[in-house]
Amino acid sequence: MPEAFLTEIHKLQPQLEYRLSQAIDASYFMNFCSCCGASIGDHYIFSQPGGAFFPITDEDTQHIEVHELPFLGSFSFECTPAQGIGKAIIQKGTRVSPLSSSP
Ligand SMILES: [Zn+2]
Repeated sequence: MPEAFLTEIHKLQPQLEYRLSQAIDASYFMNFCSCCGASIGDHYIFSQPGGAFFPITDEDTQHIEVHELPFLGSFSFECTPAQGIGKAIIQKGTRVSPLSSSP
C-alpha cells in the first residue's frame, strides 16, 4: 500500500498495521485491539455474517461510514481475494466528506 494512503487511513483508523497472521501464515494490513494490541484477523470482521463489515440488513449497512480518500489517479495495490460484501458497503454505507490532506 502506498505510504500516503496508510497515512490517511491512520487518521481514521490508527489500529491498522501490517502484521503476520498466524492463521494463514502470511502478513497483511489487519486491525488490532486498541486496549491490548491483540490482532483482529480479517476473517472475523469481513467474512463472518453479522461481523463489523458483514452487515446482515441494509439498515446495518447504513451504519457503516464510507470515507473517500483525497487521492486522484491510478494506484497499484497488492491484494488477495476474500469473502465479504465490500461492494454493498460502498454502495449502501453512509458517505462521509473526504478527508483533508492538510495536517
Ligand atoms: Zn484487547
